[in-house]
Amino acid sequence: LEPLDVASIREEFPILQREFDGQQVVYLDNAATTQTPDPVVDAMSDYYRESNANIHRGIHHLSQEASRLYEEAHDRVAEFIGADGREEVIFTKNTTEGENLVAYAWGLNELGPGDRVVLTEMEHHASLVTWQQIAKQTGADIEYIRVDADGRLDMDHARDLIDDDTAIVSAVHVSNTLGTVNPVSELTDLAHEHDALSFIDGAQAVPNRPVDVAAIDADFYAFSGHKMAGPTGIGVLYGKQDLLEEMEPYLYGGGMIRKVTFEDSTWGDLPWKFEPGTPQIAEAVGLDAAIDWLEEIGMDRIESHEQELARYAYEQLAAEGDVEIYGPEPGPERGGLVSFNLEGVHAHDLTSILNDHTIAVRAGDHCTQPLHDKLGVAASTRASFYVYNTREEIDKLVAALDDARQLFA
Ligand code: PMP
Repeated sequence: LEPLDVASIREEFPILQREFDGQQVVYLDNAATTQTPDPVVDAMSDYYRESNANIHRGIHHLSQEASRLYEEAHDRVAEFIGADGREEVIFTKNTTEGENLVAYAWGLNELGPGDRVVLTEMEHHASLVTWQQIAKQTGADIEYIRVDADGRLDMDHARDLIDDDTAIVSAVHVSNTLGTVNPVSELTDLAHEHDALSFIDGAQAVPNRPVDVAAIDADFYAFSGHKMAGPTGIGVLYGKQDLLEEMEPYLYGGGMIRKVTFEDSTWGDLPWKFEPGTPQIAEAVGLDAAIDWLEEIGMDRIESHEQELARYAYEQLAAEGDVEIYGPEPGPERGGLVSFNLEGVHAHDLTSILNDHTIAVRAGDHCTQPLHDKLGVAASTRASFYVYNTREEIDKLVAALDDARQLFA
């Protein structure tokens, strides 16, 4: 694979030129939110300048144009992730809403006492908290597939847990804390062997690697626009068409109905049945542009760039001797992020020292509190990479650790 031309990629991100206290930003918080390149910002501002109108219900030219752009964005996403068509692509606010949509629209109706929901110990709160609450309301049980000492899922444990009582297996594709790339096709196959469904949280996968939902055979798959060079306010829930057809809506209102009387209502076609009210039209246009932008670079090259940076960061940090790193060794089973702790320094203090150098990383539990409890730490510092990051930026991070040692250790 030809390496990325990072210098020219960076020219499309004016924000990366920003300085605080005379120091240029080193943005290593991409697992939280990626930066947005000019073509994506331009697509959204062009939309507002030239095509803005409400969709679906309009007869006038602008409404027709806005509707076409909005609908075509669904087709673009379908093509990008290997879905069969726009019927299988529901626009949500983010990954979290995708989790909630399935938990409410499917889980609340289908789960009951004796049913089992299988999660992993590395689930993000978006799925963990949501299924926990649905399980409480329905009387279903929750079981967690163990994470082993190397930060991988214990697949023997998965085979034990996923049984004929299992109704759904919900697993993160790439862990936002450990960086682990999970065997999601294998988990999906296990679920299907027991007539259970699979939900894959792809928030940290779709932005960084080629993803084909049909190859995984996932029943549901969710991700967020703002982590893939796209805008905030839009996410995607992929679902198999036959399942979505059977599911009741989760939110009601205009735009999602077929016929309404004072007594009752019927629902419109997919995916609109799950998209009531005025949706994120400009954001859909932005997401469409972000996919064009990513595909022009090539998802396989993006994946290899990030893996290379993750390997470099892991090796540099490991060589320091006083840094504890979480998750698997560098390689194909690790995505583009590294969470760690510097001995004797709290993650928040370290992150604040790094901020003094205008290095942006994240400190905390990264919405995986139970996993941090298991790791025996309250918090960690996470550096996460994207297409525009360089080895020099990682060198700056590693060099800045010395300040933290001098102040705190
Ligand atoms: N799942 C994972 C693995 C994530 O990393 C995140 C974002 N940190 C989410 C879910 C939630 O994404 P959002 O905040 O966009 O809903």
